[in-house]
Amino acid sequence: MSQKVELKIEGMACASCVAAVEKAVKKLDGIVSCEVNLIMNSATVVYDAKKTRVADMIEQIEKAGYHAEEKKNDTSQMDRKAEMKKQEEALKEQRFSLIVVLCFSVLLLYLSMGHMLPFSLPVPAFVNMHTNPIIFALVQLFMTTIILIFGRKFYIVGIPALVHGNPNMDSLVAIGTASAYLYSIVMTARIPNDGDAVMNLYYESAAIIVALVMLGKYFESRSKKRTSDAITGIMSLAPDMALIYKEVKSVEEQLDADTDIDAVEAGNYTEIMTEKVKVEDILFIKPGSRIPLDGVVIRGYSSVDESMLTGESVPVDKEPGNRVTGGTMNQSGYILIRVTNIGEDTTISKIVRIMEEAQSKKAPISRLADVIAGYFVPVVIIIALLAAIIWWFNGQSFFFVLQIFVTVLVIACPCALGLATPTAIMVGTGVGAANGILIRSGEVLEIMKNVDTVVLDKTGTLTEGKPKLVSILALEQKSEEYLLKLAASLEQGSEHPLALAIVEEAKARGIKYYEPEKFENMPGYGVAGSIGDIAIAVGNLRLLEKYKIPVKMEEDELIIGDRNIADIVSGVAKRGETYVFIIIDEIVSGIFDIADVVRDTSKEAIRQMQQKGIDVVMLTGDSKLTADAIAKQLGIDEVVAGVLPENKTEVIRKKQESGRKVCMVGDGINDAPALIQADVGIAIGGGSDIALDAGDVVLMKDDLRDIMKALSLSRATIRTIKQNLFWALFYNCLGIPIAAGILYPMSGVLLSPMIAAFAMSFSSVCVVGNALRLRNKKL
Ligand code: ADP
Ligand code: MG
Repeated sequence: MSQKVELKIEGMACASCVAAVEKAVKKLDGIVSCEVNLIMNSATVVYDAKKTRVADMIEQIEKAGYHAEEKKNDTSQMDRKAEMKKQEEALKEQRFSLIVVLCFSVLLLYLSMGHMLPFSLPVPAFVNMHTNPIIFALVQLFMTTIILIFGRKFYIVGIPALVHGNPNMDSLVAIGTASAYLYSIVMTARIPNDGDAVMNLYYESAAIIVALVMLGKYFESRSKKRTSDAITGIMSLAPDMALIYKEVKSVEEQLDADTDIDAVEAGNYTEIMTEKVKVEDILFIKPGSRIPLDGVVIRGYSSVDESMLTGESVPVDKEPGNRVTGGTMNQSGYILIRVTNIGEDTTISKIVRIMEEAQSKKAPISRLADVIAGYFVPVVIIIALLAAIIWWFNGQSFFFVLQIFVTVLVIACPCALGLATPTAIMVGTGVGAANGILIRSGEVLEIMKNVDTVVLDKTGTLTEGKPKLVSILALEQKSEEYLLKLAASLEQGSEHPLALAIVEEAKARGIKYYEPEKFENMPGYGVAGSIGDIAIAVGNLRLLEKYKIPVKMEEDELIIGDRNIADIVSGVAKRGETYVFIIIDEIVSGIFDIADVVRDTSKEAIRQMQQKGIDVVMLTGDSKLTADAIAKQLGIDEVVAGVLPENKTEVIRKKQESGRKVCMVGDGINDAPALIQADVGIAIGGGSDIALDAGDVVLMKDDLRDIMKALSLSRATIRTIKQNLFWALFYNCLGIPIAAGILYPMSGVLLSPMIAAFAMSFSSVCVVGNALRLRNKKL
């Protein structure tokens, strides 16, 4: 049995660190997979608990030069918020160091380079390089040392990594700047004996490289933070405080006593931390405030803005019995809700978890980038050494050789490479979430763009899933009420939309129903059970066969008992409505005609997909006649009807075997296995728990047009990743030869290490910026 663990990792600077950590963990026995994420600073390891322990992984990672600890499994909202605060603090600290470093850098540049400008800048006499060379050098040494102290992270992280044989980008900066710094110190020491040594000082290079890389890192962290805005935004929606009703036990009585809801406002509640609220607690929600947790309205009427979940800005009306979701905005009225989900079970927590998961499951394309990055740094060090040696044997001065060496090291940092994919996925999934489209993994994004077949479940997907009981045909001299009473008694145990229709109708007619003694849910057939000593079953024709009830089916005949019901049944089906039978003590005693309205957006959605050349297929457990009628309404050509839930996977597999990339869309009720079998499973109706747990993609809004949006978002995200990878690599490939001095023999052009540092920092900022551009995508 393999297990999964999340580790938090500190000290990773770039893509080569990602590769180093993965390599370190994979050295252990029994590691199934290890995926490290640079943006989240985390690793997801799947391992065999018999062969290895988490402590071993942590030890390996520490050995490679990073700090690791196990992430607690149930990070609560509070922990996440604390984490966010910590990040913000870190960013502030980073900014402070940066400002100090930049100030000293400007001074240093002024001092060391000012005299080179055509118009000489005034420099105080005591640091004049000609009259006071030693002081001139020592002042520079002092300022550079301060800058390096503020930039000590490069050495603290980079040098141990180098020693451990996993050099990363910090190692490159560290070697590069340390050589410049040490060389200059040697030159400084020689000044008393050798007056010309002052011409060979190189402090400003070390200092400016550190300063520029820090500047780039700062911009990078800032924009990296923005890429996760969508997650942090959603998290911050749920308020920290809730108004809890004081005497929870007596609420029911009080409400029954018809208290005015304004009287509730008069002060019968206290404010407590949302964390402390329990399931079943009753909360008071004022208009204009956010709902703290998921629950059911038990009193009051209001409209609630759910746009943060669905992207749909029209508020939704709520009345007693309706569900409300934590984080949504109560707009017009006072309501009381009974809490149904807390902590990790709330919709918001689940959404956040899905979005975090998206980061931990890498797209294959990004795995490739990590592999490249893993080889990059050692290769760069070798190139830098080679270039230096070649120039040395060409008779260049040590100063020249050192400059080449440093420049190659600095410009070749693969940090842009490491950012290319995670930033794009972060922003892409964020844009999705803002539009009510949750994408569970980076991998899905990549598969989704190749989808050429969309298979749609009928009930609850193409249709609203809120069917109404149209009529009851009573057979065997039973009354409608009696049939409804028995049917509803069983169906209250089922979540199927058809079941809800029957229960709803019983409620509407004021029929009280029973608790069944026995109950069995038979997906694809219906339900069965008993009340007292009456055996009851509700379901379709297949269920009749299962019960061996004699049914004679001919051309125009459907004879049950001694009655031909062919006309009735086909009449129902041709209207696109569904019929189910009720069997009482093995006798078919009635037929329910149930109609489910086709979503008004379904037709348009199907047209859009067909226009893009995607094959659209309807897959349903309902009867062929009903399915055909609805398919005709919607313009779907291919219908697979009468399929048992377990056979839905089979249908999908066949399509895949014929070379199709299949996307299955369902509501998660009876079709979860098919969602898993498909290349991409899209669950619709994200309001329900079932849908949030099923599907690689979850649509929060019940609008099939979002399928096309999800597909186009995936294309845009993958395109951004490719652009990013291209720029990151192209730029390195171009920069390295120039830095190595390839242009020098021909044109005398040599890259200054400071320009290299600038270009290097700039490239990561560009990559992150390009990813952020995705935010403007209109879906
Ligand atoms: P779909 O593919 O349209 O979503 P399902 O596979 O969920 O359909 O169900 C297929 C058929 O099984 C339904 O059309 C209905 O005839 C029968 N059925 C399933 N569950 C129930 C139930 N709870 N009560 C009555 N009939 C049911
Ligand atoms: Mg269904």
